[in-house]
Amino acid sequence: MKNNKRSGFKLTPQRLAILKFLEGNKEHPSVDQIYKGMIKKFPTMSLATVYNTLDTLKKRGQVKELNVDPSKKRFDPNTEVHHHIICVGCQKILDVHNEFPLDPPKIETEEFEIIGSHIEFYGLCSKCKNKKET
Ligand SMILES: [Zn+2]
Ligand SMILES: [Zn+2]
Repeated sequence: MKNNKRSGFKLTPQRLAILKFLEGNKEHPSVDQIYKGMIKKFPTMSLATVYNTLDTLKKRGQVKELNVDPSKKRFDPNTEVHHHIICVGCQKILDVHNEFPLDPPKIETEEFEIIGSHIEFYGLCSKCKNKKET
């Protein structure tokens, strides 16, 4: 198999596997989680490969890096505009697809052209809430 030079992105089996792992993945996995998922199939895959691939995918707009979880970066293959809710107990992240019309005050925004917004909700998921109550 020849590498596809046109795209400038060589789809090695390892990269393909990372892409596949992310495709439709709603868990918002961290680098560690992606790495753990990968070494089952590719025991020789290095953490650096995972980092490099994620970096390339990020630059190509195929994956979004999220800073919702303060303890680690999380990755989202869904690059459409949406918001997130995170559980402060188990760091589970869910998508929020509602639209929230925002009207930021002019004084702060007059030197900016607003190109987007991202809302982070945080709370306790039902599992973590039950744990607290019992
Ligand atoms: Zn939770
Ligand atoms: Zn998301």
